[in-house]
Amino acid sequence: MECDIERVLWSQDQISRRVSDIASEISADFHALSSPPVFLGVATGAFLFLADLVRHLSFPLTVDFVRAQSYGSGTESNGAPSISLDLKIDIKGKHVIVVEDIVDTGNTLFCLIAHLEAKGASSVSVCAFLDKPSRRKVQFELVGEGKFYRGFECPDYFVVGYGMDFAEQYRNLPYVGVLKPELYN
Ligand code: 5GP
Ligand code: MG
Ligand code: MG
Repeated sequence: MECDIERVLWSQDQISRRVSDIASEISADFHALSSPPVFLGVATGAFLFLADLVRHLSFPLTVDFVRAQSYGSGTESNGAPSISLDLKIDIKGKHVIVVEDIVDTGNTLFCLIAHLEAKGASSVSVCAFLDKPSRRKVQFELVGEGKFYRGFECPDYFVVGYGMDFAEQYRNLPYVGVLKPELYN
């Protein structure tokens, strides 16, 4: 598996330092709310980031997952995503922080945020581990007093590791890297 990686973009140490910094920013903004905010992981890619992030937070919060289907087994989005697994928690009147592995075209967040707003969230923030602004096709808007947090700006490569897959593999790598080009073809 390691030998499939051409280049490491962020090491395990760099990731853990950055996650701790984002957690401090989020704590400063969310620690004093009257009701616990909902940390909503977008499955499957956000599972490690969400797990690491919430372990740094010491105020009351809840955790839930949604699944948005937009990618096949390739490296390109296949159009407007659909919500294929919905929330368990009732988010009406709640502050929601969507936790994503990576924002690419913006399609997933655009669709998901509309869904959360329709369910009555009082604010929707986004916390994305990676952001690829150069690939954006749709500009999503936050809801209410929502904020945008991001770990790193990602260059225009298809990346794997730290939760992110290629054909469902490589999610368990503790760092983020780029696969050897022959593996993508
Ligand atoms: P978007 O809807 O913004 O185009 O993309 C959303 C989803 O596509 C991300 O949450 C992620 O699951 C997947 N994705 C986008 N870029 C990459 C990438 O470079 N690597 C991997 N593994 N997944 C990606
Ligand atoms: Mg994702
Ligand atoms: Mg994927």
